[in-house]
Formats: sequence, C-alpha cells, structure tokens
Amino acid sequence: MTTDILTRNWRADFPGVGAWHYLDTAATAQKPKQVIDAIARAYGPDYATVHRGVYARSANMTIGYEAARRKVANFIGAGSDSEIVFVRGATEGINLVAASWGGANLTSGDRILLSTLEHHSNIVPWQMIAEKVGASIDVVPLTEDGQIDLDAMEAMITPAHRLVALAHVSNVLGSVLDVERASAIAHGVGAKVLIDGCQAVPRLGVDVQALGCDFYVFSAHKLYGPTGIGVLWARKELLDAMPPYQGGGSMIDKVTFEKTTYAPAPTRFEAGTPHIVGVSGLAAAIDYVQAIGLDVIHAHEVALVAQAREALSDLNSVRLFGPENSAGILSFEVEGVHPHDVGTILDEEDVAIRAGHHCAQPLMRHLGVEATARASFGIYNDESDVAALVRGIERVRKIFT
Ligand code: PMP
Repeated sequence: MTTDILTRNWRADFPGVGAWHYLDTAATAQKPKQVIDAIARAYGPDYATVHRGVYARSANMTIGYEAARRKVANFIGAGSDSEIVFVRGATEGINLVAASWGGANLTSGDRILLSTLEHHSNIVPWQMIAEKVGASIDVVPLTEDGQIDLDAMEAMITPAHRLVALAHVSNVLGSVLDVERASAIAHGVGAKVLIDGCQAVPRLGVDVQALGCDFYVFSAHKLYGPTGIGVLWARKELLDAMPPYQGGGSMIDKVTFEKTTYAPAPTRFEAGTPHIVGVSGLAAAIDYVQAIGLDVIHAHEVALVAQAREALSDLNSVRLFGPENSAGILSFEVEGVHPHDVGTILDEEDVAIRAGHHCAQPLMRHLGVEATARASFGIYNDESDVAALVRGIERVRKIFT
C-alpha cells in the first residue's frame, strides 16, 4: 500500500460524482474515467468483432477479450480461464445455472435451499426450475441481527437438498456470509453451492477456490464497470457437464440440420456476438480496483458505514437494520416517514439514496416493513457524504414532526 493510495482523492476519478452525495452504489456504481476511457477506446479505434475476423484489428480484439477472461479468473481466484463465462449480469448467471445445471440435475422431490435475505434474482430462477421439475424450496432464517443463520442451516439441511444458493453480501443489510462454512455444510450432504457475489466482489477480496463454493456470479456495473456484462464462475467439471443455455452462433462445434455439436465450455455458454466492449470495460474496472486494493476499498467503506451508523443511531426515531459489521451498505427507517419521502427530501439536499424493497420482498416481510431507506458506499464517498446524509435526515425529522 503506497502513501499515494492512502491519500488519493478517488472521487476525482469519477466524472459522474463531483459534489453529488451519491449513496446508491449497491444499485450501481459510478464509473471512473479509466473505465470510461477504456470503453471509448473499445468503441473507437480498437472496435471490431471477436473470434471471427481474419484481419488484425479483430484478432487484437479477440486477444483482449480472452485476456479479460484471464484477468477475471485471476481476480476471483478461479482454477482456469475456461471456468469464466461472460454473461449479461448476475441475473443471467443465476438463470443460466438454474436452467442448465438445474434442468440436468434436479428432479421431482429434490429440494433447493435459499435464505430469507436473497435478492429476487436469487429466488425467482430457482422457483421457475423447481416448478418445472417438481422440486421444492426451503428457506434458511436469519439471526437476530440479520445474518444468514448457519446453525439453522446445518440443522435443516438434508440429502434431498441438491443446491444451496446464498448471497455473499446482502444488498439490503450488508451482512457478510461465511461462505466457507456454508459451503462445508452444503457439501456435507452432497449439495452444490451457488454464491451471489454481486455486493461482495466490489468490496471484499474474493477467492472462489478458498471459499469452497461451486458457482459464483457477479455484475460488472456494481464493480465500477459497465452495465450489461457480468460473470459466472463454475468449477470446470460442473461447467463441462452442463448443457447449453442458449443456442446460436459462436457456441457450436458443427451444425447440420440433422445434428449440432457444441463447443467446449465456456464458449458453449456464450451464444451470439458477445458484449465485446463491456468485457473491455470490466477489465479496466478490475485494473482500477486492483490498483487501489480491495483491502483498502473495504476498509474505506467499513469506516464510512461505522461513521454513518454512529451518527444515525444518535438520532432517536431512526431505526438501523443489519449487523454492526455490515459491508458498505446501511438500511434504515425514519419512524413514521415513508422511505420514499426520506429519499425525496434527501434528493433536495443532493443526497442520493435508494428507497424501496430493494428486490428483496421476503426480507422486507421479515423485517416487518414495506420498504427501507438504504445508503450504500463506494470508493468515491467520503465524510462529506456521511455528514450530508445526517443533515438530510435531521431535516426529514424536522419536516415530519
Ligand atoms: N443479487 C444482489 C445481491 C444484487 O444486489 C443484485 C443487484 N441489485 C443482483 C443480484 C442482480 O444483479 P443484476 O441486476 O446486475 O443482474
């Protein structure tokens, strides 16, 4: 860690932030100019298709595309590049596993284990495949402070559970899952483990092999990269045995009207012209966060959440959700005020938070609320954003009392 890194004003890297108090990074992160420049280059002087061209620029684009796959593999500690599938985002990654692995491996009477705090994208695809094959879903409860209760999981899991799908970091509560322990419990009954890493990859160093899971998904746009691109990592032996998810160009070995044979993984799962430019942007985003260090980003966000927690808990009538040691995300409620009103008043103060159910309606039901207000932090945030949030909430309380 150099002094330059410790003292750098990261905010200046983000033309979309400026003086704005952007506290909605869990929805999508703002982009540093390094990523914006990489995208401009990829759409400009470097632009050409991949995997097909006989001319130099296309060959170079292909080299860049496959180098990005290697970069992603190194970034998350994958065993090999061929375990990395480029998808549209976490949502598509989970749908791919549910349809392909689930379609081939789940059958009537099988059970799938989720948790109360899952994002809809880690619920609905499992419901769809469960309905199709006659499997059913069980839900691991939460501890008092909003963490997935692994003791309860251990007590309820059975050999009928073939798949466990859990969030690494909750997008509402910021709770961090002990993935190693969850994986060990699941593997104890022979179940496979999918981890939704959307909120973890931007703020924790992730090593999929050390975590011990079988599938891991994330979206680039929450990692300071572009929208429309994400990653599915799966263990090679699982991916190699999975049938294609979509058919089309690029994913085949040989096509005749009688029979088509498919390319090996990961190509088999990347039908059609891929998001070439998105992949360039993702590679630049990984370079960006690695140059800072995920440990620095994590420490920065933990410090800001701790400041916000302390300041908000001093205001009576503000209820905080989630564990003390949440990662980068803080949900709260101002008593008697709808979170949308909180969000609207904060917007007048140039503070952007998210208000709503955060695509986690079962969790809202569990918390006994319709919605929460959520402040989420990124590398560009600083103490001025926490101060503006607290000022804004004091104004909310004045207006409503
Ligand atoms: N899981 C979690 C925990 C998320 O926060 C999100 C995005 N809000 C998703 C899944 C879905 O990601 P995307 O919309 O980028 O596919």
